[in-house]
Amino acid sequence: MNRPPAASPDGSVTVAAPAKVNLCLEVGPVRPDGFHALATVYQAIGLHDLVTVRPSDEVTMTVRADDRLSLHDVPTDGSNIAVRAALLLAEHSGAGRGAHIHIDKSIPVAGGLAGGSADGAATLLACDRLWGLSTPLEELVALAAELGCDVPFALVGGTAIGSGRGESLTPLLPAPQPESCWWVVLESADGLSTPAVYKEFDVLHDGSAVPSPRIPEDLVAALRSGEVAAVGATLSNGLQEPAFRLRPGLRETIELGRSGLPSARVHGALVSGSGPSCLFLCGSRADAVHVAEELTARGLGPVSVAPGPVPGARVVPGRAAGARGR
Ligand code: ATP
Repeated sequence: MNRPPAASPDGSVTVAAPAKVNLCLEVGPVRPDGFHALATVYQAIGLHDLVTVRPSDEVTMTVRADDRLSLHDVPTDGSNIAVRAALLLAEHSGAGRGAHIHIDKSIPVAGGLAGGSADGAATLLACDRLWGLSTPLEELVALAAELGCDVPFALVGGTAIGSGRGESLTPLLPAPQPESCWWVVLESADGLSTPAVYKEFDVLHDGSAVPSPRIPEDLVAALRSGEVAAVGATLSNGLQEPAFRLRPGLRETIELGRSGLPSARVHGALVSGSGPSCLFLCGSRADAVHVAEELTARGLGPVSVAPGPVPGARVVPGRAAGARGR
């Protein structure tokens, strides 16, 4: 089968990479390398950042987003994960190559949805195509793990178990089920620092032995049954309580989602990863839109609606991005 050309007529390559949610996030003891042992079930959702790369002598970048997102926390120097991804792939491929990277952000920054990781994964794939490398997926996944523990999953997508620091993946279902869940994503104006939330987890568990993390069997059974209500009843997040302690208003928001919305169309509610985005699980797009409207009517937001699971990072054929950015 002929693969369609990845590059647009203007020579650019655009890749869409999804945000992730954690259906469970079991946090274990601190490992000798300083990271917590994790057992999680990731799901990729239909909320994407777009990364466009163009030929250039050096690796440079710009980023833009619509008004609802704050970009003040996003670096545009060598510390941006997209720049690190391009440099890592250039080094791995053994030739000095450059690219101008442009990120169109839709995933909230520091929102617990792994937006930076999505950009890292998208840049790996986009530069691979721009430079004509055809690196095997397993090699890209290994490079992704060097960039951060959530980056491999952004390449792979679907629904998968993550262990180790989260970077070691086992697909949970043979193939992603087509949009069987709908997520309402409630964003926060201010992000939460992931290291700060883990620190709060340590404070909370000070003196008590933290058991080795395990994937809850009832969640796996619920996913296999394909019943959204069963999945919703088994959602869990070990970072939720620490996030509540740092951002007390989140507790009220989750309680509202669990029992306070008159429509009762929410099958489960939890903080996304390290927060502060909050997630409400629904069984149809219509229900999700209804819940989003109810949240907005209560002055909460911004809110978006996204299906899951969706595939990982994908080339968007023939798309040239706008030149705006900072
Ligand atoms: P984590 O992936 O650490 O759990 P998160 O999902 O909550 O974090 P991200 O949007 O990935 O949040 O951003 C975390 C931090 O990473 C930001 O505050 C920012 O300083 C830094 N960062 C580096 N590159 C990027 C990028 N391309 N997009 C967003 N943030 C980035």
